[in-house]
Amino acid sequence: MTRTVIIGASHAGLACAEKLRAAEYDGAITLVEREAGLPIQRPPLSKAYLQAESSDEAGFALRRPEFFQTLDIELRDGLAVTEIDRNAKQITLADGSALAYDWLVLATGAMPRQLPLDGAGAGGVHLLRTAADARALRGALGQAKKAVVAGGGYIGLEAAASLRKAGLEVTVIEMAERLLARVASPLISDYFADLHRQHGVQLVLGHGLSGLIGKAGRISGIELDDGRQLACDLLLAGIGVIPESELAEAAGLKVGNGIPVSADYRTEDVSIFAIGDVAHAAAHYPLRLESVHHAQFSGQVAAAAIVGQPLPETELPWFWSDQYDVKLQIAGLLPAADTAGLDYISRAGRRPGSLSVWSFVGEQLCSVESASDPQAYMIAKACMEKGQPVAKQDIANPEFDLKSLRSPAPA
Ligand code: NAP
Repeated sequence: MTRTVIIGASHAGLACAEKLRAAEYDGAITLVEREAGLPIQRPPLSKAYLQAESSDEAGFALRRPEFFQTLDIELRDGLAVTEIDRNAKQITLADGSALAYDWLVLATGAMPRQLPLDGAGAGGVHLLRTAADARALRGALGQAKKAVVAGGGYIGLEAAASLRKAGLEVTVIEMAERLLARVASPLISDYFADLHRQHGVQLVLGHGLSGLIGKAGRISGIELDDGRQLACDLLLAGIGVIPESELAEAAGLKVGNGIPVSADYRTEDVSIFAIGDVAHAAAHYPLRLESVHHAQFSGQVAAAAIVGQPLPETELPWFWSDQYDVKLQIAGLLPAADTAGLDYISRAGRRPGSLSVWSFVGEQLCSVESASDPQAYMIAKACMEKGQPVAKQDIANPEFDLKSLRSPAPA
């Protein structure tokens, strides 16, 4: 019997294990996870989880406990992997034990970037990636009054909305000139800047933090790079992530921005795969993707490769974010802002305040971003998936009925 060991039991690792069983893999599957406890869904950590009672924990589990028994998947949680020995095809665990593998899947994800400032370890300074991080932040909400959020990406903005809901004064500081600059078009950046301002969030764009001010080991304020100082008793850093590729690097595998993998998510070692946030499969996507969709897709591809089944075809990437009562949905990859022939076309949705932004390069639809306009999202996504042409002038025409882009029902 063969053994597949998966390092990391989050969205990617679990998707891979599940798909292996669905593909009738009859070997042993062991998931090794550094965090203790049942794996938790990550998307709610910056949202519902922050507002939940600690007794609600089970409701956020990524899979129910029966999942592991029913599919005969061993979960070894609360245990870090310290080394991969590629010659012996075994890993060493933090308790000193070793585990042999036939197939090894690295689903190690990414870790949050720390603020590169003195005092980043002071009381009141938070990061948000794991359930333990979210519990620490939730525990701090009752006492805090003024929060500074460094970073206006997904983590920063989702957390800012949650902190406002919890009654804190919130200032978001973003180094770029606009929010969500890495992932969204300027029109969507402006939409979310307005939304946050309407909810009372102060935005400081185009500035970074240059120092932290502390009193008795606790944060009491921050200094901006233009010398301004802001008082705060809570600081959350959501300034991006670094792929967790140290184990792979120490094992002599090639790493760059994450671990480069082939179309089947295999590293240069035929027995080792890498999936999820840590992996970059240039055969599928030009960028390393950090998303639930990519975690699931890459897990499924690696599982198919392990059992020797045909690989699933490249899927259109999709992303979502919930902030206040607005749902942002994105399908496709946004072209770089300086791409020749790039056009953003925006349309108002049916609901008041809703919007979709359609990005074309030349005549080709590349991405749709929708703010509380699920119909536009679903229709554009389906067109991109089917390769169905979409005429720019139709999208630009407010009278054009998007439903006419839906394929006719089969006779
Ligand atoms: P992110 O999307 O990379 O955003 C971080 C932002 O912080 C960037 O705009 C960055 O600007 C800015 N920044 C960097 N250093 C800064 C500083 N010193 N002061 C102020 N701003 C600074 O990363 P994130 O929001 O931290 O999210 C972390 C990960 O969680 C990502 O993988 C993300 O996809 C994932 N996540 C996803 C969702 C979702 O899909 N809804 C929700 C939560 C988290 P530069 O780009 O100029 O450095």
